[in-house]
Amino acid sequence: MKLYSNEENKRLISLLTAKGREPHSVIITGERGSGRRTLGKYLAAALMCERRSGEPCGVCKSCRMLEDGNHPDFITAKANENGNYKLDDIRALVSDSVIKPNEGDLKVYMIPELDRSVNTAVPVQNVLLKFIEEPPDHCVIILTAATKEIFLPTVISRCITLGTQRCRRSDAEQWLTVQGGYGQDDIIRAVSCCGGNFGRCLEFLNGKELPLAFECAKAVSAGMLRRDEYLILKGLFMCDGQKAVLRQALVFLSEILRGACLISLGEKPEDCCFENGAEQLAASLGSGRSQELYRLMTDYIGRLDANCNQSLTVNSLTGEIFVRL
Ligand SMILES: [Zn+2]
Repeated sequence: MKLYSNEENKRLISLLTAKGREPHSVIITGERGSGRRTLGKYLAAALMCERRSGEPCGVCKSCRMLEDGNHPDFITAKANENGNYKLDDIRALVSDSVIKPNEGDLKVYMIPELDRSVNTAVPVQNVLLKFIEEPPDHCVIILTAATKEIFLPTVISRCITLGTQRCRRSDAEQWLTVQGGYGQDDIIRAVSCCGGNFGRCLEFLNGKELPLAFECAKAVSAGMLRRDEYLILKGLFMCDGQKAVLRQALVFLSEILRGACLISLGEKPEDCCFENGAEQLAASLGSGRSQELYRLMTDYIGRLDANCNQSLTVNSLTGEIFVRL
């Protein structure tokens, strides 16, 4: 079981999995696609590994069963398609927790993506409260979400929190190659757009919207470099009639411009999509104009969220970009 990058988390997990130090309640946070479940599964594997060496050995019976997805003591709660949980399922999980493990000395429960569970995030935590306050010795519960904000203070205070760490681009390329079925050029394009977010890279490779949004952002960047109003308008119209794609293109543009701003201030952006474009824009616009354009993008993302008419938004944005070049 391989966990890419995440060096800090691996160090922490190797300390946490020492006998007698097992955490019983863990919150894992991180953006969508950043590997929250993978980190949870790695933690579970390290805790249940027969060798207990601080990391999953990958060869013992427990590690193999976990890898194959059939470990009887690793139980993941399932939400419906809207991300909500049935409270009866969570109650059943709590009742199950009193039963001793089948294999080793630990049972691990994971309840993923509580942030998607808009209607049930709080009721789920209320059902879990007693369990989190006094967990049976043989139980560990892992909750995942985008941020800690959705958790009740009483839950946070009893949990250890781990955050997913950004993976290196080289790791994302390697992982995507291992998955198979993708051409090397596509992989490079996906990683150049989505950086070390494995989930987003997959979405890029398997969907149509992210690649289109990325092409739109690249075309608008090229228009900005050439200070050509027509090219900017043409770029933005690539997403005509697809508001969500346009919004995503503006998110990419804001990332590129933020990167340009940092580069022109002599810093290295941590994980900027379309880094070449950001470098060229930094040289052409400097930090002041990059920053102004970055603010403009975030302002227009807000307008789209406020349901402004798409064609009017595109026309007005083109003009506003042009006067700032
Ligand atoms: Zn093992």
